[in-house]
Amino acid sequence: MEMKNNNFFRHNVCHTCKSISQDTMKLCAHCKTVSYCSKKHQADDWRNHKTICKVMRQEKEDLVWNITNSKELCSYIQKRLIFWNLNLNRALSKSEFQMLIFPRYCVVCFSRDKLFACHRCLSTFYCSEKHQQQQLELHAKFCEEFRLSLEFDCRLYDRNECYFDMLSLKNNIDAKLLSIDDRWEFVRELVEPEVPLKRFQFLCNAERLFSGITILFALEKSRILINRIATKTDLTIHLVGSTELEVFLNWHLILEIWFVWIQNLKCLNVIFIGPELPANYRFNIDENFLINYEINMKHYKYLYHEIFDIIPKPDLVVAFNSGVHEHETTSNDLWEQSMNLLTQNNIPLMLTAYNLKEINNDLKRIQKLERIKTVYGPCRNPFRNFRPLINWEYSDSEPLYYTNNYLVIVVKEDP
Ligand SMILES: [Zn+2]
Ligand SMILES: [Zn+2]
Ligand SMILES: [Zn+2]
Ligand SMILES: [Zn+2]
Repeated sequence: MEMKNNNFFRHNVCHTCKSISQDTMKLCAHCKTVSYCSKKHQADDWRNHKTICKVMRQEKEDLVWNITNSKELCSYIQKRLIFWNLNLNRALSKSEFQMLIFPRYCVVCFSRDKLFACHRCLSTFYCSEKHQQQQLELHAKFCEEFRLSLEFDCRLYDRNECYFDMLSLKNNIDAKLLSIDDRWEFVRELVEPEVPLKRFQFLCNAERLFSGITILFALEKSRILINRIATKTDLTIHLVGSTELEVFLNWHLILEIWFVWIQNLKCLNVIFIGPELPANYRFNIDENFLINYEINMKHYKYLYHEIFDIIPKPDLVVAFNSGVHEHETTSNDLWEQSMNLLTQNNIPLMLTAYNLKEINNDLKRIQKLERIKTVYGPCRNPFRNFRPLINWEYSDSEPLYYTNNYLVIVVKEDP
C-alpha cells in the first residue's frame, strides 16, 4: 500500500510527518539516508521503510562509491536503479525513487564522510567548511529557491494550504486599466489582498491563478482582447496536453477574474484535452456565478486529433509545459498526429515550457510543419509559476525548474 508520506523524500525532513528541523533530526542508522524527528515517527515508518532500507544496506557491499565527477555519478545512479529494481521485487515508490537519485555526498569532492547540510536549504551537503566556502557563490544562486521548494513540499503535503479566503475580488477593477501586460500591480493585488502575505503565501496563491492570467495575457498579445473588449462575446479555449496540474488550478477564481476583466464576455468554453487527465473530474463552479454567465468546462482524456472534430472550434489553443518536441521521431511521440491541428489558420497557439531551450525546440517543431508567424516571444512569461520544483532528471544540470516559465505565441499564416 502506498503511504501518503511516500509522496516525496527530502534529506533532513522527517519522513513521517514532514517537519523540517535539522537539529533534532536523526538518520536511520542502517541506511543513513532517511531522517526522523523522533523515535516514535521512526517506528511508525519502519514497516514501510524496512525493505528499501535493506536494499540500501546490501548496496554498500555490491556497489562501490568511488566517484570523482558528475559523469561517474550519473552512471552510478543508473547502476543503482538496476540494483534496486533487482532486489526489491516491486516497483519503487515515488519517494524511494527520489532517495535513489539524490544520495548524500559532498557537492565539491563527492566524499560521503562527515557530511553536513547547508543550514538554510538543507538540500546541499559538504564534507568540510573549506568545501562549503568554495561553493558559496555558486550555491547562493539556488539556496533560497531550494529552501522555498522544501517549504512548498512539506507545508502543502497533507493540507491544501492556500490563502484565498482572504481574497475578495473587487468588481471595481480600475476602469483605466486596459491591458494586463505590465500591470503587475493589478495582478499582485488579486493574489495579495490588503494584508501583506509572506512570500511563501503569495506564491501559493500565484500557483493556483497565474496559469489563468497567462491565458489572459495570450488573448491580449494575439489581439483577441483589445482594451479589455473581446472580438467575440463567446470564447472557446482548448488546453491541449492537459494534466491534473491544469485541472486542479483554482478555476472558480480564474473564471471570475476573466469575466470581470473581459468586459463583454458572455459565454466561455474551456476544454481540457490530454491522455494524462484524471478520468473523472467535476469542476466546482459557484451556482450564483452561472446565473449571469454561460460557462462550459469539459475534459477529454484523449489525444487532440481523436477528439478535435466533435468539440467546438477554438479561439485560442494553449499547450502548457507540453514539451511537444520532446519525443519527436520516437515511438512514444503522442503529438505526431495532433501536430497539424495545433495551428489552424488565424487561430493563435500559445506554448509554455520550463526553460528557453525547451521553448525554442518546441517552436522549431511547429515551424517545420507550417508557415508560422510568431506573435509574441519566445521569452520569459511575466506570470510564470514562481514555485521552484526539484528537477528529477538526474542527468540535467539545472537543479530547479518552474512551470510556464517561458512562452511563445504563434499563428499560422493564410496560404
Ligand atoms: Zn516526525
Ligand atoms: Zn534505513
Ligand atoms: Zn568535500
Ligand atoms: Zn543552501
